[in-house]
Amino acid sequence: MSHDAHELAAALLPDGSELTVRLADLADAEVALELMHAAFRARPVVGEAPEALGDDLASVRARIAHGTGYLAFIDGVPAGLVMAARQLGAMRLGRVGVLPRFREQGIASFLVGVVLEHLAASGEEHVHLLARKEFPQILAWWAKHGFAPDDEEGNCIVMARSLPVAVEVPDADAMRALGERLAGVLRAGDLIIASGDLGAGKTTLTQGIGAGLGVVGPVISPTFVLSRVHPAQGDGPALVHVDAYRLGSFAELEDIDLEESLDTAVTLVEWGAGVAEGLAPGRLEIDIRRGIDPEDETRWVFLTPIGPRWSRTALAEAAQAVPGVRAPASRAGRTPKTPEETP
Ligand code: ADP
Ligand code: MG
Repeated sequence: MSHDAHELAAALLPDGSELTVRLADLADAEVALELMHAAFRARPVVGEAPEALGDDLASVRARIAHGTGYLAFIDGVPAGLVMAARQLGAMRLGRVGVLPRFREQGIASFLVGVVLEHLAASGEEHVHLLARKEFPQILAWWAKHGFAPDDEEGNCIVMARSLPVAVEVPDADAMRALGERLAGVLRAGDLIIASGDLGAGKTTLTQGIGAGLGVVGPVISPTFVLSRVHPAQGDGPALVHVDAYRLGSFAELEDIDLEESLDTAVTLVEWGAGVAEGLAPGRLEIDIRRGIDPEDETRWVFLTPIGPRWSRTALAEAAQAVPGVRAPASRAGRTPKTPEETP
């Protein structure tokens, strides 16, 4: 299939249909308006009707022109949307909706994941949204996506989160250089969870981390051994390199006795998302993505620090200083294009 320049991500759903996400342009205003009305009409109404029902073609065009619209399609059929617009120096999400017949398939999660990565890759540092107080399930859903209550506005809670540090890595050497630089901010006790498809570059990045820590190599894919310990050559921490691809659960991960080395080593778990989080109270999540064009070897690396041990600023400084690695220009604090960009 062909991909246009506005297409951001594609995935196969369990039933074989294709989920795609792309940026909206002005020609999509009608589709976006229909999605808003259909998605929001289906919501439980408490108090006033949802504001999205008050949108018309002109207001949707203005939203697209002054912000960023993201549309999800299933086999080409419009299925969901998110609008983002700058407000008070940070991006605010609004109009997040999926059509009722496409719900319960993880489409909203996928869409929001793509939106957060796109905003991070565009140089945004923070994102927030308004969630109505009366819907605790919706607040919990956003919490699952890394948002936390930050403030209140009328009958809404302001849910906010930092965006991952994003860098563009053109080739394998730059990926190793990135790992080497990241090693400079790592210390004993750190847990890193690396995600990304097969061949994304998780092991290549780990090789750089190993080199930067000065551990005994070589760092290779641990696929057949589950876990390999690379002792330090100097006084630094060891590197414990784990492949959780075949592990189905935290219990199985516990069987390989990582706890023992956790405090004295840097522990990096490939394929650890959803399995290894319980190992430590905080972690650095590293997600590596290829673009939608299979010919393009560029990777996007997203660094998400979780817990008080990490400083987003220190990570950004380290990652963005690597030769060959491109960082998006920071947009934080830029003044809004218009005073009325509120979704
Ligand atoms: P994973 O551990 O995620 O399965 P690997 O690191 O083992 O992936 O493999 C990545 C492969 O892609 C290597 O052969 C590497 O040389 C190649 N490659 C090409 N471009 C890049 C890039 N920009 N970043 C990382 N690896 C790249
Ligand atoms: Mg690997």
